[in-house]
Amino acid sequence: MFQKSFIYAPLPGRVAFGAGSLEQLSREFAELQVGRALVVCTPEQSDLAEKVRATLGSQCAGVFPKAAMHVPIEIAREARAYASQIGADGIVAIGGGSTIGLGKAIALESSIPILAVPTTYAGSEMTPIYGLTESGEKKTGRSLNVLPRTVIYDPLLTLTLPVAMSATSGINAIAHCVEALYAENANPITTMMAEEGVRALARGLLIVSDNPESVDARSQCLYGAWLAGSVLAATSVALHHKLCHTLGGMLNLPHAQTHTVVLPHAVAYNAPAAPQAMARLAKALTAEDAAQGLFDLAVRLDAPTSLKALGMRESDLDRVTDAALAAPYPNPRPLHRDGIRVLLEAAYHGSRPHAMTTPI
Ligand code: NAD
Repeated sequence: MFQKSFIYAPLPGRVAFGAGSLEQLSREFAELQVGRALVVCTPEQSDLAEKVRATLGSQCAGVFPKAAMHVPIEIAREARAYASQIGADGIVAIGGGSTIGLGKAIALESSIPILAVPTTYAGSEMTPIYGLTESGEKKTGRSLNVLPRTVIYDPLLTLTLPVAMSATSGINAIAHCVEALYAENANPITTMMAEEGVRALARGLLIVSDNPESVDARSQCLYGAWLAGSVLAATSVALHHKLCHTLGGMLNLPHAQTHTVVLPHAVAYNAPAAPQAMARLAKALTAEDAAQGLFDLAVRLDAPTSLKALGMRESDLDRVTDAALAAPYPNPRPLHRDGIRVLLEAAYHGSRPHAMTTPI
């Protein structure tokens, strides 16, 4: 029945899911057997963090509202010092991937447990992956110390996520599922989760774009994001993530939007080498072709489709192509410079993904 043997190593973690589940925060925090929370958030979400402080009462030792994109080391150091100064023995990270990333930076050194309350679809709460940016360079690593012990998924907290951000954050999550479908270390469990993740996110996002207040659609998206984060943790990423990391690192392009633009093109490149993954993906998208279906989804969600619109210059295409080919991630299809250049040029212009006919 299975074509190959595999290893599946589920990660520990407790999930409380459902509209209104933030009400379980105090109980879930106490469940961790800690009593002095440091609450972290971005400046934009400090009102939400203050609500958390009020809910936790004497269980809250302080709020650090300075989380920023890609976890600058200076902010991580300041947060670590503050955690130690207030004697925090637990972290509540409430927000998107940047906030959860800051919580992870604190836990990496102190080993204090994280309770994560995600408010976007980035999926960091399900992974032992951390990132820190020092002197303009982002370094990532893995440690079980940073894996949140408890995650509260409350779809009501995502009602405020603007439609445009919902679309790009959701497609970023779909990208985690897509690469899990053709990952070299995929297994039947991750494949099942990834396909279901794409299905839930694609359906949910289409409803959210018309009706951002739909709790049911928001729940579907958050459920999909949970699955997406789980498969990101369990499998290796490939060409698509390599291209996005390269574009983000070299040109400072925005994270989720870059994923949104590149994904259909990376999928078109890999399609000839991963027919089973493409069939699952197309089915989950209810599309005839996976790459075209992803492009159509972005268009229907009014999400960005061109790197040019994100600020890339045409003159950057060659150096990004070369950088993406250096130290490549494992990928189902061997990397050909001409094919990668064609892919990036299509993404730059925002044209439909090309069917790749060059040899596999
Ligand atoms: P983000 O966390 O940077 O949030 C973007 C903005 O949206 C912030 O101002 C935030 O306050 C605001 N926001 C968040 N939720 C909101 C809501 N519900 N309503 C209104 N505003 C809201 O963005 P992100 O896309 O969630 O995270 C991106 C970062 O996460 C990147 O640095 C990426 O590398 C990282 N990431 C890490 C992992 C991992 O496993 N370590 C996985 C995915 C992403």
